[in-house]
Amino acid sequence: MRTAPATTRSAVLLVVVLLAVAGCARSGDAPEPGATRPASSPPSAATSRAPVTPRSTAAAPTIRPEPPLAGAVVVLDPGHQLGNAAHPAETSRPVDAGGFTKPCNTTGTATEGGYPEATFTWEVALETRRVLRQLGARVLLTRVRNSAEAWGPCVDERGRAGNPDEPGPTADVKISIHADGSVSAGAHGFHVIAPEERAPWTTDIAAPSLRLAEVVRGALVDEGLATSTYTGNDGIDVRGDLGTLNLADIPTVLVELGNMRDPGDAALMTSEEGRRAYASALASAVERFLAL
Ligand SMILES: [Zn+2]
Repeated sequence: MRTAPATTRSAVLLVVVLLAVAGCARSGDAPEPGATRPASSPPSAATSRAPVTPRSTAAAPTIRPEPPLAGAVVVLDPGHQLGNAAHPAETSRPVDAGGFTKPCNTTGTATEGGYPEATFTWEVALETRRVLRQLGARVLLTRVRNSAEAWGPCVDERGRAGNPDEPGPTADVKISIHADGSVSAGAHGFHVIAPEERAPWTTDIAAPSLRLAEVVRGALVDEGLATSTYTGNDGIDVRGDLGTLNLADIPTVLVELGNMRDPGDAALMTSEEGRRAYASALASAVERFLAL
């Protein structure tokens, strides 16, 4: 006999289904796979598809909700580039910064121990991107590597990244990631810089960018990070001299995550745990801002 009689197969199915529905998950109660099948019966197609281990109802397949940032486009701008210092001609070239010119880029700062700002901003950007992708966002970076051989991009290119008239998708929000290098005694903590309203450059983005700055500040504070003791107002500054902000046509801020010359801030920045905290706060800020 090649197959079990229909009545036997039905009985087997019924038992398997009843076990699954009853949530008979205790190992002592769980029959061995096939234990309910007569020894002489080969497995039918139907029984081979049935769950071999009874499952509780909690393990039943569920429909996943759409991730919270599905469809969102975020630009992360890791400040500077590791090789900027080796390319003074390229990085000192004047570029438009929103009605005036500034050097293409600068070298950035470093901790007393020599950990460069370019590497810090790159590592925080990658971790922030990882978290944002988990939340469903599409993330674009303004530079694709952190290399001692590379330089730029210039601040005008960073400022335009994600704008509606640029190639590629238009971004919903952009965060430029930096760290400061103040040598004032005791200077530490982060500050978030929003674009000053400068017609016609930032008229369209000044208000939403200030809201973004407040949200970023809130997320960093919630992560346990301290606001700046030495600049801005309660962790927020507004500036009109930054091409990266002036040239944006989407809500944007530039965040100085801390003072690399301060031993406490430097300890956070040079540790993976610290960088994860910064990134977690930035990703959370994006999620909060886009939910407003
Ligand atoms: Zn910087």
